[in-house]
Amino acid sequence: MSGSLVVVGTGPGKAGLITPATAEVLAHATDLVGYGPYLDRIPCRIGQRRHASDNGVELERARLALSLAAAGRQVAVVSGGDPGVFAMAAAVFEAVDAGDPSWRDLDIRVEPGVTAMLAAAAEAGAPLGGDFCAISLSDNLKTWSTIERRLTAAAEADFVIALYNPASKARPHQLGQAFDLLRGVKPKETPVLFVRAAGTAEACVVVTSLGAADPSCADMRTLVIVGASTTRQVGRWIYTPRSERGAAS
Ligand code: SAH
Repeated sequence: MSGSLVVVGTGPGKAGLITPATAEVLAHATDLVGYGPYLDRIPCRIGQRRHASDNGVELERARLALSLAAAGRQVAVVSGGDPGVFAMAAAVFEAVDAGDPSWRDLDIRVEPGVTAMLAAAAEAGAPLGGDFCAISLSDNLKTWSTIERRLTAAAEADFVIALYNPASKARPHQLGQAFDLLRGVKPKETPVLFVRAAGTAEACVVVTSLGAADPSCADMRTLVIVGASTTRQVGRWIYTPRSERGAAS
């Protein structure tokens, strides 16, 4: 039997947000490859092999998955959320790009998943109702000056900004620096949302303003959304109207 590699994402956390197509891939894979905590979310199946690895070794993990597929295994590479958003799908193609030329002929597929930004937005209302962008605050793979340039451009263009990887133990100060930069461009009344564990039973939403936003509200399981000039509150919800003219009248 010839091998295959499917890159999947398990969504933001709860089982109901794993797509049926992803569940099917996970049920039929002979090998699961992924970051340990993501594999732990998947029920064990007899005969299925698990290859858990640590955070930060994405290329190594991708090469292992490609070698297994080349050896005839049915491999699922498991990410959280969507596998194409700051996750393993790009790492797999980077490994193909730099790796054994025969890997280009492998049966490789990507299944979409529910990314944290969408789950977080749904917890709060519809903050991504207008144009938006996503920026990762992690400077592991790009310089902080690139991040500053993108934050400034996004703020000047009045996008709603979804911030992935806002903070970690190794990077406690960057979200504060990002807020300081954004305060120089956007009004201090701009709504800011901290959504922790979106799409899970422990989901928690904190609504504040750019002027008052406290970076210590964010951790590795938090998605931060900074509104556009039209983003507003109605009742207990936050939304961005579809029209740049603002709310319907
Ligand atoms: N591929 C993932 C993102 C990986 S980057 C996806 O599509 O969701 C990891 C970052 O995603 C975290 O630091 C956090 O900012 C965000 N994140 C992942 N799951 C989350 C959740 N359930 N709630 C809020 N943010 C989450």
